[in-house]
Amino acid sequence: MSKYKINEIFETIQGEGQYTGTASIFVRLQGCPVGCSWCDTKQTWDQLESDKQPLSTIIVKTSDDPTWCDVDDSTILNTFVEQAYRAKHVVITGGEPCMFDLNPLCELLHSKGYSTQIETSGTFEIQAPEQTWVTVSPKINMKGGYKILASCMQRANEIKHPIARQVHVDELEQLLIEAPIKENTLIYLQPISQKISSTELAIETCKEKNWRLSVQVHKYIGIS
Ligand code: SF4
Repeated sequence: MSKYKINEIFETIQGEGQYTGTASIFVRLQGCPVGCSWCDTKQTWDQLESDKQPLSTIIVKTSDDPTWCDVDDSTILNTFVEQAYRAKHVVITGGEPCMFDLNPLCELLHSKGYSTQIETSGTFEIQAPEQTWVTVSPKINMKGGYKILASCMQRANEIKHPIARQVHVDELEQLLIEAPIKENTLIYLQPISQKISSTELAIETCKEKNWRLSVQVHKYIGIS
């Protein structure tokens, strides 16, 4: 039995990357030391005991706050059933979910017919089964000082890179030289904060390199 610190669990539509448009259950884990300045889930960074709450409080959460609960993999699965979620795809995100061993949770979910996906910064070793779809969104040179692990880049099924300026494209190209990916790994560029200049840069770069565009569909249609 493995314990996971959960910030929130909710059902929605995946808005990013290869699974865009897929009905999904999001399991957001608590804790991240990476320190991206533009992070839109800063409420997940700390794991303060004073923010610990019962699961019943977490699953009715309506705002982005740092409260979390400590639950095991079976309890997470039971929550899906009790909440009558219909989605069969589970996105494990954060925070930085790879601070946890995700094997027990993913294996349990697979045994019950769910597919799983992890969204990680690539700064912690990925502990998950082979059939789990791994999205590495490499957070390069962030203030937490964590390096992108070559093993994470090799494991990735897709790379999803947030960009605002040319320097971010250059960073990714350098990283791909230093930490090669598999031949069939997809590369997505994701404009930061829906800025027009970021989006135009992403479109031009995708055309030039035959990469893919990820536009965070959920933010355009106003869902979580
Ligand atoms: S890795 Fe993700 S959760 Fe952590 S600071 Fe960066 S964007 Fe936020």
